[in-house]
Amino acid sequence: METIKMENFGRAENSKKFSCNKKEDNKIFDKVAEIAASRGFFWPTAEIYSDKLAGFFEYGPNGLALKNNILQVWREELIEKENMIEIDGCQILPKSVFQASGHLKNFDDPLITCSKCGFKTRADKLIQDITKQEIPEKLENEKYDELLKKNKIVCPKCKSFFNKTERWNMMLKTGVGAELKEAYFRPETCQSIFVNFPRIFKTCRVKLPFGIAQTGKVFRNEIAPRQGLIREREINQMEIEIFFNPEKENDFNLNPVKKEILPIYLKDKLQRVSSEESVKKNIVKSKLVAYYLSRLKQFYLKLGIPEDKMRFRYVNENDRPFYSKETWDFEVQVSTGWLELCACNHRGDYDLSGHQKASKQSFEIVDESVGKKILPNVFELSAGVDRTLYAILELTYKEEPKDDRTIFSFPKSLSPVQVAIFPLVNKEGMPELSKKVYALLKPQFKCFYDESGSIGRRYRRQDEIGTMWCITVDGQTLKDNSITIRNRDNMTQIRLPINKIIDYLNKSSSK
Ligand SMILES: [Zn+2]
Repeated sequence: METIKMENFGRAENSKKFSCNKKEDNKIFDKVAEIAASRGFFWPTAEIYSDKLAGFFEYGPNGLALKNNILQVWREELIEKENMIEIDGCQILPKSVFQASGHLKNFDDPLITCSKCGFKTRADKLIQDITKQEIPEKLENEKYDELLKKNKIVCPKCKSFFNKTERWNMMLKTGVGAELKEAYFRPETCQSIFVNFPRIFKTCRVKLPFGIAQTGKVFRNEIAPRQGLIREREINQMEIEIFFNPEKENDFNLNPVKKEILPIYLKDKLQRVSSEESVKKNIVKSKLVAYYLSRLKQFYLKLGIPEDKMRFRYVNENDRPFYSKETWDFEVQVSTGWLELCACNHRGDYDLSGHQKASKQSFEIVDESVGKKILPNVFELSAGVDRTLYAILELTYKEEPKDDRTIFSFPKSLSPVQVAIFPLVNKEGMPELSKKVYALLKPQFKCFYDESGSIGRRYRRQDEIGTMWCITVDGQTLKDNSITIRNRDNMTQIRLPINKIIDYLNKSSSK
């Protein structure tokens, strides 16, 4: 299979040779993209056609397995342990929903168009790339014009000046039915959670505070998607909306996580404070917010993100989403810089009051603990699945040139394949015996059988998809029913009787 360079991944469809990506070589980024495409993780959609669209990606079997495993950990760690409810809403919703949510008016980015060649790009990102300074996405249009002028920024394609900055709404519009009724692809999964809130509260016997979760696809008509899975137009999200009585936001029981250390990034400084201190020192708004930030951190630790690569960045008003009163971006450090994986937004009653007003339905509910009718507030954990998956790939990626191998050291719960089984050679009954071992392990572990190529090549292929263990059936196996198990992380091999394998695999969790 032809491997695809990451620079192609970020190219806008109308820009031929030009890429908005940073020019400097990003070797890890390119290598991860290359292995991702050649080992069945992900690659650009409709790559065989010249009118392929930027910002759309396909998951192959290993990518899908990794994605499903991430969602599995999310469900176990957050939905199940926190007694949340999960729903599955539609991707296309009527216009009223996004009028009420404010997206049709406010969900936009600053767009600039070249006066000569018509090249279109995001004003904030282009200025940021050239000046190497943080540029907020919510400045007045005139401010971008001034910055472009001041820094003498011209079209990267034809060196002409840009027209005045405009706002570009990122909602992807569609027409439903023969009359093409105006409708939109959702830009976040949570709107159906808000719209369904009165019914869920009535029918699911829940009490405040409680969370409703949803995972699925969302669509954003980005001006210039780039950097592979990092900025796409079709995105997988995993979102959690916690509904609570605003008067009781600080009565929340923080005890189970009060010692959890939060890496807080505020006013250009990183400080590590316990979640309990973060509330006492007024860094974080409330115990409820501190609780869920702590649980989010614990979730990402389970995914194998190293603690020293994560932080919660306080987002200033200028950069906050239009519906948020307080935002903490959960970010991890990758080769492209600090990457936001999850936006933690205090949405107040913005959404429920918006839908209440527009639909003329009551969204007020009785909070039994105080015996009063209230309109709940919402705190959300809105995480990108694709970005999370990319960050895991990059942060677990290792090159070991001495042994001529590259590996993804995924945690056991994430590995697309946990155990690979090989016959040393394709004769003397070794394949048959290997298939028996495969059948023995298959009910309990994610297994893969491979008999093609040299044993060394088979090991390397499994290393590249992060397989935890490789089991080899060899001449000795035929004599005494013992096999060898090779550990991915240190390449040590031990010999075990076949009937001891399951025990061994269950006990050695590796990482
Ligand atoms: Zn131009």
